[in-house]
Amino acid sequence: MIWKIRPRFAWKLFLSYLAVLAVGAAVLLVTSRLALPGAFLRHMADMGGMMGPGGMMGGSPPPVLDSFRDAFTDAITLSGLAALSVAVVVSALMARRVVAPVRRLTEASRRIAAGHYDERVDVGSAAPVGTEDEIGQLARQFNEMAAELETTEARRMELIGNVAHELRTPLTIIRGSLEGLMDGVLAPEPETIYRITREADRLQRLVMDLQELSRVEAGAVELHLDELDLGEVMNSAQAQLAMQFEEKGVSFELQKPTPSVEVRADRDRLMQVLLNLLGNALQYTPSGGSVMLKATQLDGYAEVSVQDTGIGLQSEHLDHVFDRFYRVDRSRSRAGGGSGIGLTIARHLIEAHGGQIRAESPGPGQGSVFHFTIPSL
Ligand code: ADP
Repeated sequence: MIWKIRPRFAWKLFLSYLAVLAVGAAVLLVTSRLALPGAFLRHMADMGGMMGPGGMMGGSPPPVLDSFRDAFTDAITLSGLAALSVAVVVSALMARRVVAPVRRLTEASRRIAAGHYDERVDVGSAAPVGTEDEIGQLARQFNEMAAELETTEARRMELIGNVAHELRTPLTIIRGSLEGLMDGVLAPEPETIYRITREADRLQRLVMDLQELSRVEAGAVELHLDELDLGEVMNSAQAQLAMQFEEKGVSFELQKPTPSVEVRADRDRLMQVLLNLLGNALQYTPSGGSVMLKATQLDGYAEVSVQDTGIGLQSEHLDHVFDRFYRVDRSRSRAGGGSGIGLTIARHLIEAHGGQIRAESPGPGQGSVFHFTIPSL
């Protein structure tokens, strides 16, 4: 049976201790073997000198054993010192090797803390993922964390850029109009006042949307889940927008699920999503078109669809329309008061309910469908 020993950090430490011990013992053995004969002969010669040519010096002769003991002590002291020196050098080298990646990690985290989010550490091992030692795993996790931080930072910068951009247009219009009024270039007519008010409203809506976005993105929206009759919620959504559909000349068809479907959801939040999707469908469908709201019961969840005969979407935009500030046609969206945040909030709310949301479209000019799922009872 072949034991598969994974190169664990503890094993590395254990093996490095063993290496120091083995090198120390080897040096001890070799040095004592080399030093012992010389030391022994020296002590034997001293003993011969003491005994003199005529034999014993009159007193009791120093025993051979004493000479050997002295020779042995000399040899073992010398070799012990040699073994200790080598062991210290080997230990220092081993410790440097073991500590080096930890040092690299410390240095990298210091640079990240200083704002260098592109910093990464060299994992330094060709081992496949999951088979590295603990330090290797730590390095890999560190790199993943650094990549995550870098993305978050990039998103933060992008958000600041987007918000600044969104604020700039209405502020420029408001300021330009006010200056025109002050210089007398513009007359204080209802049209001018209306333009200023409209831009101020847009600013207020943007600020509210941003507040809502930061709450949903932080997961700080508390859901008050109830058992709801989905058909009844769909009715309410239709009732709220009926006037606007009529004014624009877009027909609205409602297909309630039969038999009725009970879902577990926060009523206000579900309404918010429905109104957003229906509002978009109305905005991006020219007069004469139609919008259909329908729901079907599937296995364990209900699927709600908002289908329109409007301007449609190119396939490359389908996934991105849920991204923050993503707008296919910026000026068109802006004309309708859009900020490109509505679908992002809708996606967060649906996901908080445990559902999913997606967009479909056969192509530009051919309408689009937005589907979302929600757990049913
Ligand atoms: P906005 O406030 O701009 O409508 P949303 O987040 O609600 O922001 O939508 C993002 C973008 O998705 C819109 O600017 C638009 O380009 C596109 N979009 C959303 N709904 C539809 C739809 N029903 N038909 C075509 N395009 C749509």
